[in-house]
Amino acid sequence: MGARVLDGAAVAKQIREELKPSVEAFTAKAGRPPGLGIILVGDDPASHVYVSSKLKSAQDTGLRADLERLPASTTLDDLLRVVERLNASDAHDGILVQSPLPDAMGADAERRVFDAVRADKDVDGFHPSNVGALVQNRATLVACTPSGVIELLERSHVKIAGSRAVVVGRSDIVGKPMALLLLHRHATVTICHSRTPNLAQVAAEGDILVSAIGRPGFITPDFVKPGAAVVDVGTTPVTDRQIVERLFPPGTKRHDAFLKRGQLVIGDVHPDVAGVAGALSPVPGGVGPLTIALLLRNTLRAAQLRAGWAG
Ligand code: NAP
Repeated sequence: MGARVLDGAAVAKQIREELKPSVEAFTAKAGRPPGLGIILVGDDPASHVYVSSKLKSAQDTGLRADLERLPASTTLDDLLRVVERLNASDAHDGILVQSPLPDAMGADAERRVFDAVRADKDVDGFHPSNVGALVQNRATLVACTPSGVIELLERSHVKIAGSRAVVVGRSDIVGKPMALLLLHRHATVTICHSRTPNLAQVAAEGDILVSAIGRPGFITPDFVKPGAAVVDVGTTPVTDRQIVERLFPPGTKRHDAFLKRGQLVIGDVHPDVAGVAGALSPVPGGVGPLTIALLLRNTLRAAQLRAGWAG
């Protein structure tokens, strides 16, 4: 028996289509499209792929998206100056600084950069004032990946209110906002992390299980309550053939994809979970496209709010 597929790509397409008339209306009224400024520092290949997808989706949905590419040698001060320029730009309603930043920038660089983005242009939802508003359930700009997971669950008719939800991972950008969004929708939420004892047992209490840890195939069937809705946020690029073949034996589609590209992006959830879960989001085609769709929605929302056209 296979789990129902939680089709993130289809839900993301639906969201993008829903955005188009509002983007058009904003553009007609403002005389310019909602604008997104993306800053990409360095040469991380995965970041380049993510940024290209964001630019293309933005343009396809009628938004303006500009890329500021900076070399890996950029200093933190130089990067902060670019953020300040976009903060002051009237054409840009949203600013996104692609993570990760080069290690050479220092351990606290990301925090300093995210803090420097104007809160009303913080379409990633990482600024402390937006996070504080989320805690109080009155946020306007919420982190895109966890918001995308909520859209996926709700539009797939997974019941959240009254359910037990377990979130594995407690990062500021996924795990914590995910737990808060589920809590605000009246789930009883447990957050797990690397120090959680008996993790499989705790995870298996969830009617909803969201994994965001970046450990390929870590969530095996014993972590999953039979019939649970499982959302796999993890996306880890794997080049090690042994790891790939442990999860996807030769002859499977995913193994073929690995042979073609020499690399495979693998989720946290073991493929055998499909035999236990009631519903399961795939990697790829699950949460990834939703993150981008929610980024576009946040950019439109930021534009409307800045113009004073949203309640
Ligand atoms: P992160 O900042 O590295 O945080 C990982 C979290 O997982 C930490 O809280 C860590 O616990 C926990 N963890 C790690 N190993 C664990 C283990 N063996 N058992 C239990 N918990 C463990 O990562 P992130 O930025 O949240 O991202 C998580 C994953 O989601 C990554 O694969 C990332 O690529 C993916 N992601 C995907 C999207 C998308 O659009 N699809 C967007 C964002 C992130 P501690 O706190 O105890 O260290």
